[in-house]
Order: sequence, then C-alpha cells, then structure tokens
Amino acid sequence: MQSWVEEIDRRARETLGQGRVADYIPALAEQDANRFGIAICTNDGARYTAGDAQEPFSIQSLSKVFLLTLALRAHGDALWQRVGLNPSGMPFNSLTQLEAERGKPRNPFINAGAIVVADHLVSAFATPSKHIQDIARTLSGNASILIDRHVLASEWQHRSRNAAMAYLMKAFGNIDNEVDAVLDAYFSCCSLRMSCLDLAVAMNYLAADGHALATGKSFITPDLARRINSIMFTCGMYDAAGDFAYRVGLPAKSGVGGGIVAIVPGRLSVCAWSPALDAAGNSVAAQHALELLTDKLGVRIANTA
Ligand code: GLN
Repeated sequence: MQSWVEEIDRRARETLGQGRVADYIPALAEQDANRFGIAICTNDGARYTAGDAQEPFSIQSLSKVFLLTLALRAHGDALWQRVGLNPSGMPFNSLTQLEAERGKPRNPFINAGAIVVADHLVSAFATPSKHIQDIARTLSGNASILIDRHVLASEWQHRSRNAAMAYLMKAFGNIDNEVDAVLDAYFSCCSLRMSCLDLAVAMNYLAADGHALATGKSFITPDLARRINSIMFTCGMYDAAGDFAYRVGLPAKSGVGGGIVAIVPGRLSVCAWSPALDAAGNSVAAQHALELLTDKLGVRIANTA
C-alpha cells in the first residue's frame, strides 16, 4: 500500500496547475496550489502517507460530516423533518431552492443544510465550536488541532450568502437560535485545520461500522455509519456527486480548502488534499488521486464491504 500512495502522489501531482484555489473566502486564496497530500488509514490502524499528508489545511465542508454525525447522534431521525436527503443538483452555496422549498435545505452537505445542522448543535451544546474541536481532536488522536482564527475572521467578513441563507431559513421557522450564534458554530467548524492524516484517522469510524480507531470505542452505531456513507455517496460532492460516483464510486465529502475524504466501507478511510478546485468546487488533484486509488483497489461501489 505504501508504494501505491507514493505512485498516486507522483501521478496526482501531474494535474497540478489545473483548477483554481477558492478565493471567495480571501484567507483560502493564500493557499499554495502546488501542495498535494494523501493519507490512508486502514481499519486495522495501519497508516500510509505521501506528499504533504501531515500539513494542516482548512477542512471547510469536510466538517459537515462531523456536524451531521453529532446531530444524528443527539437527535436521530428527527433531523430529517428540517433537512432533506436528496442531491441538490445546485452549487453548495445556492439560495434558489430554499425559497421554493420553504426553508428546508435539500441535504445536510450543502451550506444551507449544514447551517440547520449547526443550529441543532447550538441548541444541544453550550459551546458548540469547542465541542466540535474536541471531537476532531479525540477522533484523530491529535490534541493540537485548532480553529484557524484568520480563516474564521475571513468567513465572517464574507458571510453574506451564508447569512442570507440562515435568515431566510429563520424566516421559515427552520432556525431556532440567533443567526449569529449559528453562523459562528458553522464557520468555526469550517475553519478547523487538520491534515490528511488527521482526517483519515478521524473519519475511519465511517469505514469501521462506527468504531473509532483513536479511542478504541464505538462512536456511532453500525447502522448510523452506513446511513452517513449513503448520504456521502449521493450528496458529498455537491452537484458533481454523479460524476464522482462514476469516476471514483465511493462515499466521499469534499471541502473548498481542497480536501476530500472517501470511505471504503469495511476496509479503509482516505483523505487527499490539493487546494486547486474545479468548477463544482472539488479539488482536481484529490479527485484524480482517489480515482487512481479505486483503480488500484478494484473497488468502485457505494456501500458494501
Ligand atoms: N466555509 C465554506 C462556506 O461556507 C464551506 C464551503 C465548502 O467547503 N463547500 O462557503
């Protein structure tokens, strides 16, 4: 496996130069487009890394997986009265469907959906952003994980679209708490800095029937882990979920920091990262790396071990 990740690192780097680093959050535009890293964590705890796998980056929408996991653990299926379960077919920050669908976002992995999930957490926890940071630390086994204050300030400064979504949903009665408190929780989660290795280890519970590698304990039930994988498969890559399913064929979640986490259920978790994105907001090199990995593994399936 180590020679595979090194080969993938070499070949994925051939795509560097394609795509563009996200700049709608100015702090993200400071990222170097030539970085690439990959980390694999197998369910027996073996770790394989190449390139910039240990370099912390802004996890952005990857945090939506942690948010959803915590909300489903706390509230169960009641969440689905407030958020849908279908692909949106729209960019991750689109407002169009929200008005027509009376403030109910299509799924928890677009911004509007994650903002509703963050609202749940604001109701459930006194300090939601600290809670998420603690969970990221516990699941990865890395106590030095931090919220990047520079990125957080930049998200706040350029919050107009996310704030518009939150206020619209509040007008429809789908946000319980003050919008600022909800946005603070949402932006703080997006601003966590983690490396590919941190993320592959932290999200291994999705490959391992809910069992967390770093704690040696069950984090969520096997049933919940499978359901979250299903949502990642259909909605994890925004409006490019179908393209990604064809190319890679794994449950996955991407973020505009350039990270993508993918799961081979029953076997391993993987995170690839490179900051330059395609038009849908998914990292060009990370997608290529995951396609090479599924070629090597001979898996291109949704949700079976
Ligand atoms: N913080 C980003 C935003 O709210 C997250 C978007 C993403 O990674 N797709 O716009």
